[in-house]
Amino acid sequence: MDAYCLAGLGKHPYVYAVSYSGHAIVEKLRNEAEALGFHAFGVAAVPLELRREYYEQWIAEGKHGTMTWMERNNDRRLHPEQLIGNGEARSIIVLALNYYQPDPVRGYRIAKYALGDDYHNFILRRLKRLCRMLREDYGGDQRPYVDTGPLLEKPIAEAAGLGWQGKSTILIEPKRGTWSFLANIVTTLELPVGEKQKDRCGTCTRCIDVCPTQAIIAPYQLDASKCISYLTIEHDGAIPPEYREAIGDRLYGCDECLDVCPWNKWAVPTVEAKFAPRELPELRELLGWDEATFTERMQGSPMRRLKLHRFKRNICVVLGNVGTAEDLPALRWAAGGDDAMVAEHANWAIARIGHRMRRVPISQG
Ligand code: SF4
Ligand code: SF4
Repeated sequence: MDAYCLAGLGKHPYVYAVSYSGHAIVEKLRNEAEALGFHAFGVAAVPLELRREYYEQWIAEGKHGTMTWMERNNDRRLHPEQLIGNGEARSIIVLALNYYQPDPVRGYRIAKYALGDDYHNFILRRLKRLCRMLREDYGGDQRPYVDTGPLLEKPIAEAAGLGWQGKSTILIEPKRGTWSFLANIVTTLELPVGEKQKDRCGTCTRCIDVCPTQAIIAPYQLDASKCISYLTIEHDGAIPPEYREAIGDRLYGCDECLDVCPWNKWAVPTVEAKFAPRELPELRELLGWDEATFTERMQGSPMRRLKLHRFKRNICVVLGNVGTAEDLPALRWAAGGDDAMVAEHANWAIARIGHRMRRVPISQG
């Protein structure tokens, strides 16, 4: 049962450890959140049981790569009651917004969540409206978060009853699958808590089997430093050569472990026009963009955070994997540019295309 699925809310009174005021707040939240486009919400109580030792070990082993921000603020990340005042937070409201849409057909892929406009400000505005409503109607102190604060969103969403963290470590909603943005409101209000969902991965291992870089090192364990999402987005600097071929045609992020998840058979396309895919030209034209063009064309896109050098680095890797002779002039131009990292990746791509044109196995080049 989807404890806090909006459509079902109120039909399952045994779900909540109820108080009248808690019910009233949840009912109001249901209506407001639904009107704002969220398809589900739940509440986790804090203090909250988190896998603190696992997280600390994960960081100690360097599985977060160069995402050093994950090393900071762990007093609050692992003790979310500290997110307001001196341990005054009592509940975390979790909201989910669908971004699913089929991939556009073009010669390269972008993670679905990044096809359209950036979601952060757009969702934050909606959270602020909910915070205002809570403050005016019920009091309390509220803090909205969209991917920005020291919050472990997925275990919190699991605790709130939205779904379970699958073997890929992604949150799976039983009636929706994996294609949701998660957002949070931390509050000092004590609210009725969602019923935890049971893990329904069963014997499935599709996500582990399909991962191009073996980044899911064991069920429920991700080595982020090997993940294509990390390598193509978070990682600054050269992409280690051992991962370049596995990146394939992925320009930004990777959806492979989500695409194969059987729970995504329930996915329905988003109704948010802002998430509609942007028009983008083919890669050899993208490689010719200068700073001004990149800034202008990527305005409002999540891909803008790459900055031009990482964007071009990624283009070179994809062209090295799927490019043809027609891409060589653009790559040679990039190889002669001022940025040494981009030039190295362009030369790598030129060599790979050359091997393919001569039908020589790469290892014999
Ligand atoms: S996003 Fe891609 S690279 Fe990362 S774990 Fe999933 S399948 Fe592997
Ligand atoms: S692909 Fe299978 S094992 Fe992986 S998260 Fe989905 S259901 Fe679980």
